[in-house]
Order: sequence, then structure tokens, then C-alpha cells
Amino acid sequence: MIDKHNREINYLRISITDRCNLRCVYCMPKEGVSFIGHEDILKYEEILRIVNVAVNTGVTKVRVTGGEPLVRRGVLEFLSSLMKVDGLKDVSLTTNGVLLEDCAERIFDAGIRRINVSLDTLAPGKYRDITRGGALDGVIRGIRKAYRTGFSPIKINVVAIQGFNDGEILDFAKLTIDRPYQVRFIEFMPIGDPALENDLGYLSNNEVMQRIRGLGPLEPVTTETARMGGPARLYTLKGALGKIGFISAMSHGFCSSCNRLRLTADGHLRACLLADEPTADLKTPLRSGCTDSELEALIQDLISRKPHSYKTDCNQGYRRKCAANMSSIGG
Ligand code: SAM
Ligand code: SF4
Repeated sequence: MIDKHNREINYLRISITDRCNLRCVYCMPKEGVSFIGHEDILKYEEILRIVNVAVNTGVTKVRVTGGEPLVRRGVLEFLSSLMKVDGLKDVSLTTNGVLLEDCAERIFDAGIRRINVSLDTLAPGKYRDITRGGALDGVIRGIRKAYRTGFSPIKINVVAIQGFNDGEILDFAKLTIDRPYQVRFIEFMPIGDPALENDLGYLSNNEVMQRIRGLGPLEPVTTETARMGGPARLYTLKGALGKIGFISAMSHGFCSSCNRLRLTADGHLRACLLADEPTADLKTPLRSGCTDSELEALIQDLISRKPHSYKTDCNQGYRRKCAANMSSIGG
């Protein structure tokens, strides 16, 4: 469906759980997290019904995220069911990689080919700090296993943080030289309590690019896939097998081409990552026996109310509290 700002809304991000086996400092509180109760989490059958209906409104791409999607029981069967939804052209997964080594082959067998792994540092001690206890070596083994298993593309998402990983930018960029990884630098967004409360330094992607140019010129990637690749601007180092992407939500907002809806684990459809409104509660009607046409009308209505941009419509600026943290929205 085309929204009133002439954007084709065809991409649904689905957070299947707000739980996680890590506690990244910018994403989740250290302790005292209040998780969505078991009864309030959408069942897989409910998510699949929403996806089937969303396809009728024009959704063709789905990304499964979380919290950490791989911690939810039954996720592999769910992925396999998603792959069978008529009309979906693309199903992908975002994970922190902790359980990837164990699951990679089964995720592949479920039919998934595109995978994003979040990794903010290549130093074990710093990884332990930023994730509050995670072990880097398992994630690295997971990425290598994903490569051997045949996933393509494998995207490595790095949140760039001044004073934390700015000294590792070239190391991350070099990962693209002899492996076809797509390393994507994501500007840190001061959104939600954990991100606001921790004193993390913003680093613009202009600065990140500037530093990477120290390795050699960055050639823009202009293939069809790159143009379809969403908000990432893609480049490659001369002779490298992989690509380097820049997702610059802070310095180069991409609201004008935003094609996304987000389904939270408790069954709310969000029209915008940043704005808590408008949303549509899909769980209540779903559990009260609504028809598919009624569900479709709710989705269409939300699309028609999708804000033009957080600045003009939400009028809150970027640095903001959100009723939900990133872990419950899914990033
Ligand atoms: N647990 C999975 C993972 O970490 O990949 C999926 C969910 S996580 C919320 C999705 C993405 O959001 C991750 O790449 C994470 O780094 C990113 N993220 C979380 N909080 C962020 C923030 N404040 N600014 C920028 N990116 C953020
Ligand atoms: Fe968990 Fe992902 Fe949030 Fe880190 S970014 S706490 S891995 S949901």
C-alpha cells in the first residue's frame, strides 16, 4: 500500500520476544527489566495470521528480530512457516549471534538466507562490558559458521560509539576485504531509557567514513540490490569481497523513504521506530475473533496515519524517551 506521503509500505519487522540473553548497555536496563508476560506475547500462529493479512496490504519483506529472536522456543519452526507464506519475497533474521553457531544450519534448513549479526567490538573485554557479560568468541564462531553454511548476505551491524569502538573502525572495515561480509555502521540513537541514561558518545557516519578512507578510496555500490537495500548507503574498498554500509539515522534521516511497519512482541503495530503513536493494537481484536478483513482494515488505517517524519509529525527531536525500549521494538 502507498501511504499518503507516497511511500510504498512493504516491509514488516517482527519482534518475536522482548527477552534477550545479553544486556547491551544502550538497549536494555542492567536489571529490573519487566518483560511482557507469557499470555501477552503473540503466539506464533497469531503472528503468522498477521503476516498473511499484511501481505494483502502489500508487505513483501519480513525481518524477524527481538529482543533476541533465537532465545524464543520454537523459532526455527516459526521461520520455516514464515518462509511458506504466499506472497512474501524475503524473510530475514537479526540476531546477536550468541546462539548462531548452534543454530546456523537449522536456520538455513528453514530456508533463511539473509542474516544480520550485531557486533560492536572485536575485543573480548569490551564485548563483555557493552553486552554486560557476553562472550565474543562464541559470536565470532557463529559468524564463521554462518559463512560456511552459505548465508548470503551476512551483515554485521556495528553501533558506532565515540570513546568505545571508534578505535576499531578500521578493523571492522578490514573484515570486508577477504570475506563477503557487509559491515554496516549504525549511528547510535539516544532513544529509550537505557540509551539515554548511559553516557555514550555519538559518532557520525561522516566521521566513520572519513577514517575508513585512510584504508583507501570507498567506491559507491550502485547495483539494484544496493538501491533496494533500505537505509544503508553501500560502498566497497578496492578489491574487497565485501561491502561497507552506513546507516545514518541521526545525520541523514531517511524518513522520506521509510517503507516499514514494526510488530512488537505484545501485538502492537508501530508506524514509526521513534514515535509511540500512532500504533494499532492487533492482539485485542485478534483474540476477540476479528475477521481477516477487519485486521486488514486496521493495518491499512495505521499505514494511512504513518508520520511523514519524526521531526515534522512527532515534533520531539531525536533525543527522546520512548514508552518502549529498542529491545521491545526490535530495532
Ligand atoms: N538482539 C538482536 C540483535 O542485537 O541483533 C535483535 C534486536 S536489537 C534491538 C536490533 C538492533 O538494534 C541491534 O543491531 C542493536 O545494536 C540496535 N540498537 C539497539 N539500541 C540501539 C540504539 N540506541 N541506537 C542504535 N542502534 C540500536
Ligand atoms: Fe539484546 Fe540485541 Fe538489545 Fe543487545 S541489542 S540487549 S542483543 S536485544
